[in-house]
Amino acid sequence: MIDSTIREPLYRELERWQAAGRVARLWLRDDDAIEPTAALDHLLSETKSYGIPVTLAVIPASTGEALAARLADDAHVSVAVHGWAHHNHAKPDEKKQELGGARLEETILGELYEGFLKLQGLYPTRFLAMLVPPWNRIDKALVPKLPALGFESLSIYGRVEREGPLAIINTHVDLMDWHGTRGGRQAAELIGEVVAELQDRFEGRNEPIGVLGHHLVHDAAAWDFLAELFEATSGHPAVEWISAAALVQDQMSTT
Ligand SMILES: [Zn+2]
Repeated sequence: MIDSTIREPLYRELERWQAAGRVARLWLRDDDAIEPTAALDHLLSETKSYGIPVTLAVIPASTGEALAARLADDAHVSVAVHGWAHHNHAKPDEKKQELGGARLEETILGELYEGFLKLQGLYPTRFLAMLVPPWNRIDKALVPKLPALGFESLSIYGRVEREGPLAIINTHVDLMDWHGTRGGRQAAELIGEVVAELQDRFEGRNEPIGVLGHHLVHDAAAWDFLAELFEATSGHPAVEWISAAALVQDQMSTT
C-alpha cells in the first residue's frame, strides 16, 4: 500500500476535475509481450478486475500462437506492433533504436510490414493497426511511409508536438526507473507526474494521458503503484479509462 499522504495530490486534482464537470481520459500501454507468463497473468487480471482496457505492444518476430491463445478470452486487450525483433541497430554512441540507423529504409519497412501481417493474422479481432517503436524511437523519415503499410496510428513517449500523417496516441507516465534502480519508480514521483499531466490537460491540451508499463520487469513497487492508480481512478466520475482503438477513432474523426 502507498501512504495516503502520497496519494493526496491525485485525489485533490481529481476532485478539481469533478467539481468542474470535466472527465480526464487515460489509457494504458504495456510493452514487450511475447508469450504467456505469470507477470502477464497478473497484468491481465488486475486490468480486467478494474475494467481497464490495455494495449499490449507485442514483439512480432519472437511471438506466436501461445500468446494468441492466452489472450483469446480477454476482450479488454488490444495488440499493437512493437517494431519487429526489438533489436538495436543504433551505433554504439547513439541511443538504442530499431527503426532507423544505417540500415536501408526498405529493410526496416519490410520488417515492419511482416510484423504487421503476422500480428494481424494471429489476432483477427484484437489487432490494432498501431506501431509502437521499440525504445519509443523511430527515424522521422519513416513516419510518412507507415500508412502505406497499413498503420493507422503511432505511439511513442511524451506530449505530442505536431500532427502527423497518422493518429498519434502517446504515453506520458513511465512506471519504470530505467536509468537508476531498473525497478518501479517511487510512488510520490509517479503521482506527481500523473498530477502534472492532469493539470496540463485541465488547462486545455486535448490529449489523453498514457500510462506505460513493462509487465515482465515490474517489481512490487511498480505493481503496487498500478493497483493504487486503478483503485483511485477506476469508476471515478472525473476519469475515463479508454481503449487505444477508441482514441484512434476519435482522433481520425476530428482531423
Ligand atoms: Zn520495448
